[in-house]
Amino acid sequence: MVSIEDLPIRPELKGLTAYGAPRIDVPVRLNTNENPYPLPDVLVDRIVAGLGPVLRDLNRYPDRDAVALRAALAKHLEDGTGCSLSDRQIWAANGSNEIIQQLLQAFGGPGRVALGFEPSYAVHREIARSTGTGWVAVPRAEDFTIALDASRAAIARHRPQVVFVTAPNNPTGTGVSADAVVALYEAAQAAGPALVVLDEAYVEFQSAPSLLPLIADRPLLVVVRTLSKGLGLAGLRLGYLAGDAAIVDALRLVRLPYHLSAPTQAIALALLERAPDLLGNVGRITAERDRMVRELRAAGYEVAASEANFVQFGRFRDSHRAWREIVARGALVRDSEVPSWLRVSVGTPAENDVFLAAVRPRLS
Ligand code: PMP
Repeated sequence: MVSIEDLPIRPELKGLTAYGAPRIDVPVRLNTNENPYPLPDVLVDRIVAGLGPVLRDLNRYPDRDAVALRAALAKHLEDGTGCSLSDRQIWAANGSNEIIQQLLQAFGGPGRVALGFEPSYAVHREIARSTGTGWVAVPRAEDFTIALDASRAAIARHRPQVVFVTAPNNPTGTGVSADAVVALYEAAQAAGPALVVLDEAYVEFQSAPSLLPLIADRPLLVVVRTLSKGLGLAGLRLGYLAGDAAIVDALRLVRLPYHLSAPTQAIALALLERAPDLLGNVGRITAERDRMVRELRAAGYEVAASEANFVQFGRFRDSHRAWREIVARGALVRDSEVPSWLRVSVGTPAENDVFLAAVRPRLS
């Protein structure tokens, strides 16, 4: 047997470990920001009934451009935001992670730079690395909002080709204002031009409306969304982008042919028709989030304001030790890369009770 170190892989991959939360067998898993509610049986039956013809046609490749699905996603966005978009302004892929990868394949690469505001979603940086794109991390302010002056200065200095803004931010839960996005967009264009990617993976949980309307007169602003969180379909693997049709055309240059399977397209189409049913649990999740924030604060923790389906709490003298203790008490949370903080996803009320019992009395 050889080890990775013995293989002729790209030198920048040597010594790295694969990204991903540990999958540990504990009763309550609150570490990957999933929606805790399973698909209702009526929707499962509906999908199964509709899949017959799709399965018979599995000898054929799927629609390479997923036109019907992209039209349904445009309608879904219109229903949610009032923004009228055509299918040519929408792109879809296997999770928003794949969208992000395609964006960096098209707009990043060797000799180019992407910039993000950290702590944030580490996969932006990971995909920069795997696509050979340089990475600049601009630290957030103490309250985890984007430090605008320092960020504008960093954009002017590094002149990135791609800027990532995660709204709400993961792992901190912090919301982002329209003014901040506009200021960053203008800074990026003054230094650039640069693509500004607004990652709205958790948008369904935020109290403010989506920032999607900002794309209207900003051709280099794109919004990336997913069916994994608010809609509760993480296992389906479907993410999408809304932006200028020219950007969609650019992504077509780097996507693999037939990247979205026929069952994925068919299931997503069937479920998007029932999006209001799927979104029915969002209110329960945000109410539980607010309860968790209150109870964590009452137990003596510091809690970052959250607009998402997870909560960052701390501060710990030794967050790794606190993480091990919580796991030993039956709840798996995320030991993120933010020193002295941990992140917990909002589960069902019963799951959240197990977690809350595991963190009392206050751990240090
Ligand atoms: N963006 C953010 C900010 C996320 O937290 C996640 C998932 N954890 C994703 C994108 C990717 O989600 P998916 O690939 O399931 O669409």
